[in-house]
Amino acid sequence: MNVIEQMQQELQALKERSNLRTLPALAHEGRNVIVNGQRMLNLSSNDYLGLAADRKLREEFLQELTVDTFLPTSSSSRLLTGNFTIYEELEQTLAQLFGTEAALVFNSGYHANTGILPAVSDTQTLILADKLVHASLIDGIRLSAARCIRYRHNDMKQLERLLAENHATYRQVIIVTESIFSMDGDVADLKELVRLKHAYDNVLLYVDEAHAFGVRGNQGLGYAEETGYIREIDFLVGTFGKAAASAGAYIVCQRTIREYLVNQMRTLIFTTALPPINIAWTLFIVRRLAGFKERRIHLKNISNILRNALKEKGYDCPSASCIVPMIVGASSDTILRAKELQRHGFYALPVRPPTVPEGTSRIRFSLTAEITEEEIKELIQYIQ
Ligand SMILES: *Cc1c(COP(=O)(O)O)cnc(C)c1O
Repeated sequence: MNVIEQMQQELQALKERSNLRTLPALAHEGRNVIVNGQRMLNLSSNDYLGLAADRKLREEFLQELTVDTFLPTSSSSRLLTGNFTIYEELEQTLAQLFGTEAALVFNSGYHANTGILPAVSDTQTLILADKLVHASLIDGIRLSAARCIRYRHNDMKQLERLLAENHATYRQVIIVTESIFSMDGDVADLKELVRLKHAYDNVLLYVDEAHAFGVRGNQGLGYAEETGYIREIDFLVGTFGKAAASAGAYIVCQRTIREYLVNQMRTLIFTTALPPINIAWTLFIVRRLAGFKERRIHLKNISNILRNALKEKGYDCPSASCIVPMIVGASSDTILRAKELQRHGFYALPVRPPTVPEGTSRIRFSLTAEITEEEIKELIQYIQ
């Protein structure tokens, strides 16, 4: 068997287990998607605040632009000639909002998570990572020289034990977690994580707020803002591709960490910086984040309604956010149910292994502030 035949065989095996992935062909129309000619309400979007679907916002932004400010490329890494002033403006704004010494912007959350850990780790580093952290964090850990132990999801007792047993053997220990988890929509115990970090003087805390930035906290700065722990987190990372309706990512941190990353982080140094026009749009959104409070409240309300309905129907629902999974079990069954909801005009998608553990295939509802309470109630009627 040659290499291509081998690939075909593996793809066939994926197909037989209902785990074959394809790139879906779809058109966007505000909060709806059109798939195979059918218009459906998008229940699988990361546009949590509905900002990407907001035409008015884009109009307002366009009015500020001129041919001189519409810059579609930076043409270079920021370390060479790509460091346009708009980058520094965004970073200063972020640092000011978060009340941190510094901020640094990256091309994506994937760049951030695959770049920061390798930059700050060496062979004398131990990484303790939650079992369910995002693939980008796993890849960052793999690229680093650190040793890594994964602790059971949100199991603070196990983490405490691992710290006690290992902290003295290493120069530094980095605890890695998300604040809101992508697939279960549940939240990390930031209070306990901060307490454990402070138990030893060589422990650092890394928190990925990809699903919380824009959505949580009084000013929309994330779950760390909501819980009051911004200053206790050494690497506070978030992304602009979800609620902020843009692209890119940030870290807010101490000045020294920023300076160190500028010198060591390969996914910052060896890539062309995001287009200045993209940074300008991000800044436009970031400046308005605090003002989207009503959208945050509405999102919380409809998420509660859906979560409570799932619980009433007997589903085990760990969610505490606008990511609300309906855990079905088998992949084939999950796909059938997703298709059924789609027939009724609700574009909900199945999530299968390897994205989630075997036997926990699910329909992952990802709600946005543009969805009405009536629509959620109609959706609930179609859930068995
Ligand atoms: C989406 C996501 C990322 C990746 O961010 P991108 O900007 O899309 O590359 C990283 N971490 C988590 C937890 C995410 O959900």
